[in-house]
Amino acid sequence: MPELPEVETVVRGLRPHLVGAQIREVTATVGRLRAPVDVASLGEACRGRTIRGLRRRAKFIVVDLGDGVGMLLHLGMTGTFRIVPRETPLTPYERVAWELADGRSWRFADVRRFGAVQVCALPPGGGDPEELSGLGPEPLSAGFDGAFLYAASRARERPVKTHIMDQAVVVGVGNIYASEALFRAEISPKRRSAALSRAAAERLALAIKAVLTDAIAAGGTTIGDFRHVDGSEGEFAVNLNVYGRHGFDCPRCGLTAGLRRIVQAGRSSFYCPRCQR
Ligand SMILES: [Zn+2]
Repeated sequence: MPELPEVETVVRGLRPHLVGAQIREVTATVGRLRAPVDVASLGEACRGRTIRGLRRRAKFIVVDLGDGVGMLLHLGMTGTFRIVPRETPLTPYERVAWELADGRSWRFADVRRFGAVQVCALPPGGGDPEELSGLGPEPLSAGFDGAFLYAASRARERPVKTHIMDQAVVVGVGNIYASEALFRAEISPKRRSAALSRAAAERLALAIKAVLTDAIAAGGTTIGDFRHVDGSEGEFAVNLNVYGRHGFDCPRCGLTAGLRRIVQAGRSSFYCPRCQR
């Protein structure tokens, strides 16, 4: 499933090809993704409009079509984009096609159909559309730091791993990155959120930023079905220290066969019981 770094990579890949392009028509080959695709309103919103910008918010892609009109896109589990000449035949899994005025076709493919394509209203000044209200800060923004995480953790009894994966606390810290960030910060995933010291919150906020920044620099971790815009598979370039490595030696303290896997809130967590406290 694409995580924040993969979505960021997709947005950065699409931006130079799409910003400034005019949409002539929209076609959809599927009635339903995660939610019904309203082809009529999608076509009405997009027709004749120029793409002003694309940005990522959490794992959503917000497309600015000008005059407060926007689109909200989500890759779901298997969503991918490609941009091809219009005459290129649709593949069986291409669900939505935006025909551009310059003869190119921007396609959204989604095998499992958990993605989303919908029209949204964009508030003036670059704020979030209403559909995304309630989300916590972006992990790489200045608004997310040790002080913020410390304050957001007071009186919370749940394990810190579950806490940092809550989109209302901070967005985009997926399962892999949560385990990796806690390892870097030397904090056990089992620690109660309220028991995070100010110093630990500081370390953890920095570790979350570092893990995600590294993953973006590497173009995403490429676990699962993620593909780049050009169709190539990303490199397996992110060095995973603990994720999926239970039974291996700890790469920091060397504890023999020390890395463990536990299940928290239905998700696997990986950690070293000796150097993560
Ligand atoms: Zn260790």
